[in-house]
Amino acid sequence: MTVKVGIVGYGTIGKRVADAVMRMDDVELVGVVKQSPDYEAQVAIKKGIRLYTYEDRIEKFEKAGIKVSGSVQDLLSRVDLVIDATPDGVGAENKAKLYEPRGVRAIFQGGEESDVGEVSFNALANYEMAVGRRYVRVVSCNTTALSRLISAFLLHGYRIRRVRAYIARRGADPREFKKGPINDVVFNPATVPSHHGPDVNTVIPTVNIVTMAIAVPTTIMHLHMVNIEFEGQVTRGEVVKVLEETPRILLFNASRDKFESLAQIIEWARDMGRPRGDLMENAVIEDSVTVYQNEVFLMQGVHQESIVVPENIDAIRAVMNTMGKWESIRKTDERLGIVMTGKNYNMA
Ligand code: NAD
Repeated sequence: MTVKVGIVGYGTIGKRVADAVMRMDDVELVGVVKQSPDYEAQVAIKKGIRLYTYEDRIEKFEKAGIKVSGSVQDLLSRVDLVIDATPDGVGAENKAKLYEPRGVRAIFQGGEESDVGEVSFNALANYEMAVGRRYVRVVSCNTTALSRLISAFLLHGYRIRRVRAYIARRGADPREFKKGPINDVVFNPATVPSHHGPDVNTVIPTVNIVTMAIAVPTTIMHLHMVNIEFEGQVTRGEVVKVLEETPRILLFNASRDKFESLAQIIEWARDMGRPRGDLMENAVIEDSVTVYQNEVFLMQGVHQESIVVPENIDAIRAVMNTMGKWESIRKTDERLGIVMTGKNYNMA
């Protein structure tokens, strides 16, 4: 069965998910909803993507010479499922106004409140929970990275006593010229916990986690400093092996390979010819992995613009119940060019 998908919101996340959908052979991109006939609309047309817009904007597109294939309602009547990648809060409005009245299934993003979906989703953590659901929320970039990391250990049978994570958030995405900070460190938020810990609990309810976050003047990646305390003793060798085996987690070595900053990790993704220079995996700094008895300390980079892309693809298959967890994760990784060497795709 080929799943017909529409994407509403063609920004940082939406355009990447659109490209990813086009790389799959079991999912078809019917079209995307754009609000304005700008350069991104022109690029979409060049890529062969059909554009849809709101009734009252069709004329605007026609005047700009950009072909529209129909209204949002037309798109909704042609798809099995919608991926909503609109700005925070708009997804919930769209659900009430557009998707629910037409009975269209939808996948939302992490900027929405968790109650927008019947379940919050991370493929490694809780794929099965999303099977057959109508509304699913893929958690945000930071939550995705933390959920993958924690799942890596849980899937290997480790028992976690508690997780503490300190997050330096990128100030803005590269194209967001009006956002900051450009010369500051912002308490983001000043209160503890930041929303990330409770958000991890929407996908892994049992884990004891507290997070704190600041925003810093970079657009490259987020950086997490994580402390995981286990029920029993662990060794550094075991921890590294778990990370090496787990899909969507990569180790970057500072002393041997000279990865000394996040910019160099993104440079690697560019050098590797990754689309847009994106890095969809967690980038764990291998040298930072340190074990004291039952505690692990490590740092990981999180490429906010792309880390949720594979999760959106898996969420489609879970919602439509077309494939099992590991088959889907493997297929997604294979088709998106995510590193698969040494990874275990059957950690049931
Ligand atoms: P964005 O601003 O880059 O893109 C959103 C797009 O939706 C824009 O093109 C905007 O014009 C369009 N849009 C707004 N209202 C619309 C509507 N009613 N109908 C159709 N299109 C509409 O935002 P983004 O960064 O892609 O974020 C989208 C979602 O993904 C948010 O929930 C966000 O929290 C989440 N997310 C973002 C990141 C990130 O780092 N950028 C990472 C993970 C998750």
